[in-house]
Amino acid sequence: MSIAANLDRVRSEITEACARAGRNPSEVALMAVSKVHPVEALLEAYKAGHRLFGENRVQEWQAKAKTAGSLSELDMHLIGPLQSNKTTKAAELFASVDTVDSLKIAMRLNEAAYALGKKLPIFLEVKLSSEETKHGLAAEELPSLLPQLILLNSLIPIGLMTVAPWPSDVANAGKEARPYFQKLRQLRDDLVPGCPTLTGLSMGMSNDFAAAIEEGSTCVRIGTAIFGSRVGNAT
Ligand SMILES: *Cc1c(COP(=O)(O)O)cnc(C)c1O
Repeated sequence: MSIAANLDRVRSEITEACARAGRNPSEVALMAVSKVHPVEALLEAYKAGHRLFGENRVQEWQAKAKTAGSLSELDMHLIGPLQSNKTTKAAELFASVDTVDSLKIAMRLNEAAYALGKKLPIFLEVKLSSEETKHGLAAEELPSLLPQLILLNSLIPIGLMTVAPWPSDVANAGKEARPYFQKLRQLRDDLVPGCPTLTGLSMGMSNDFAAAIEEGSTCVRIGTAIFGSRVGNAT
């Protein structure tokens, strides 16, 4: 199947999940995760009219950006872990950083965004499972972090992001992930009064996005279902 056909199929599955949940499909953004795939795959999706993308490494996007970085309306988000020595590059190269997981990273991004004269949207990544491999803030850290984050004037905290634990049974991924999606939504609902911009919920991937939409996702991050499997790379 072509990338364009995959995008169409995923979009109609999003529409169906929205119908089940009584939601408007315009509330759910589809992010095409192009990591590991060659830049040609991204260009193909772009040609099919797609604009919102996610890459998980600063250096990988830096290399691909030589070809694709100046495409008009391209909306490229960072969705992988960010080290503090890459914050300047990240603020420069990405339209949004969706994986902020510490005040230190937020402060560095804020400085970098300020120097660029840019307001940088960010998501806070929350770790809801005990999986060793997962990044993110603990839910309990958020209430004390948020007031400090709000003071960083060059950042706009626009939502929470999470990655559900890897399912024990891929065919049941949505069912297994659902409690985590519910937790993220509850957290968001609790935090929005103190941070009115924090309305977004970036949750749901190829195996579990229908469940994520039913639980309130505003952005699903889809790689495999659009671009095919990532040979030789598990993440
Ligand atoms: C790779 C990745 C995705 C996409 O995963 P698929 O299962 O291929 O859809 C989404 N979010 C993050 C953070 C990722 O690293």
